[in-house]
Amino acid sequence: MRAFVIGNAAIDETISVDGLPEPGVSILGRIASRDLGGKGTNQAVVMARGGLETILVSATGDDFRSATIREQLAEEPLDLRISRLAGISTDFSMVLTTPDGENSIVTTTEAAEALPLEAALAALSEASSGDFLVMQGNLGGETTETLLKAGRARGMVTAFNPSPLRPYFERLWPFIDIAFLNESESLSLAGSTGGKAAEALHAKGVRQVVLTAGTDGAMLSTKGGDFIHVPAVKAKAIDTTGAGDTFMGAALASAALRGGMLDQRAISHASAASALTVARRGTRRAFPSRDELAAIFAG
Ligand code: ATP
Repeated sequence: MRAFVIGNAAIDETISVDGLPEPGVSILGRIASRDLGGKGTNQAVVMARGGLETILVSATGDDFRSATIREQLAEEPLDLRISRLAGISTDFSMVLTTPDGENSIVTTTEAAEALPLEAALAALSEASSGDFLVMQGNLGGETTETLLKAGRARGMVTAFNPSPLRPYFERLWPFIDIAFLNESESLSLAGSTGGKAAEALHAKGVRQVVLTAGTDGAMLSTKGGDFIHVPAVKAKAIDTTGAGDTFMGAALASAALRGGMLDQRAISHASAASALTVARRGTRRAFPSRDELAAIFAG
């Protein structure tokens, strides 16, 4: 099994602040890190470090951030299909983090929304039945829907993280096998959290729903099957950026390497992996290493 991740690549500029700013208020901050980020890239990096053959399809502009993204991606065990687009700004995220590990993030999506559909479809033409197609909310609505349908037509298992929130998600659910949502996404998209939210998404066609809840851990609900809760692994959180992406990447890699859909073991592996991420500053640099993921997946 392989994973095809089609999503964004961005530079994360992380600024430490004492508290998140109120509207209209200027506050002081300190540059904490500048790192490779973007939800698509994050999830792909974790899957690849986990030992799953992972193809990343993404797009950048043709500027200084693009060069940094390429340098950093080249250090990862990924099969890269990155379009470089003239006249487009490479995406970046401004991440504000507080001393208690809370964060607020603003992400630009100019490059992600310009991802050429032909490049993504060309990559998918190499996919086999049972491979994972992994997507998030940064690409344009039509592109996302077309790719999910194309993946389904090839017999791929589609996994989706509906973030950042977009109005077009509602029409995607029938093409999604596995959905990963945090608490605020669950409230916005399913109108509730926990079992009720999972049932609402199952009714729309999603086979497996994963609901993450920070230090309260995570739940896996399988349509017509079990509802499992896995507690978070205790960690001294200093920067939670990328916790959700680490969780999703590790859960999918754990399941794919054992040839199947998500199970309790995959969720436990994901909890252990994301506990490592929250205890370190930054995005890519905070993710578990290949050795750390190998040790987690052996458990
Ligand atoms: P982020 O946006 O910060 O990447 P998220 O909001 O998408 O994260 P969360 O539900 O906050 O997702 O976290 C995902 C998982 O990461 C949780 O289910 C939990 O296993 C782990 N996690 C998050 N915060 C902590 C923490 N403080 N300590 C230990 N584990 C944590």
